[in-house]
Amino acid sequence: MTRLIFLGPPGAGKGTQAQVLAKHLRISHISTGEILRQAMKEQTPLGIKAQSYVDSGELVPDQLVQDLVEERLSQPDSVSGWILDGFPRKVTQAAFLEELLAKTDQGGERVVNLDAPDEVVIARLLARGRKDDTEEVIRRRLEVYRNETAPLIDYYGKRERLLTINGNQSQEEVTAELKHILAS
Ligand code: ADP
Repeated sequence: MTRLIFLGPPGAGKGTQAQVLAKHLRISHISTGEILRQAMKEQTPLGIKAQSYVDSGELVPDQLVQDLVEERLSQPDSVSGWILDGFPRKVTQAAFLEELLAKTDQGGERVVNLDAPDEVVIARLLARGRKDDTEEVIRRRLEVYRNETAPLIDYYGKRERLLTINGNQSQEEVTAELKHILAS
């Protein structure tokens, strides 16, 4: 049973690696960013509420992402394992998740911290060119990452569940390292 949380700055490669690994392990890949973008595209109530936050690089309110994660983790395809990509992004969300996993008997999760330097992630994001990948919004997302998300490295580090991987390598090298670490 594999349950993984992917941490790391925007552009570190979380989404790409989570997708490859989830397919390899036949577990579900839950990307809160992807779910929000899909909801915005379809203009669902969630999408409409999230739009202004995502567009400006701010975190959407906890309740919105927490509800969607709770819903997603209760689906049958999550029973055999999952990778959470983009959640939790702050300490309050991590505390929520901890409680949810305890309540639903889904323990044993490991946390992968995929790290890469600012100049590398900025260059990658600018090259990707998503709607929220403009220079101004990227700068804000990195700031939010440093202030809100980076403290989770300590949070999970203290719980001895944290693995750190250098995201500043080729996609194949990162995948190989992840598979190696997870097999041990
Ligand atoms: P990236 O990792 O490149 O920043 P994501 O797809 O993970 O991209 O997230 C895109 C945006 O979606 C974030 O900037 C934020 O507005 C919103 N978002 C995603 N996950 C969360 C979360 N757990 N809490 C709050 N907002 C979130």
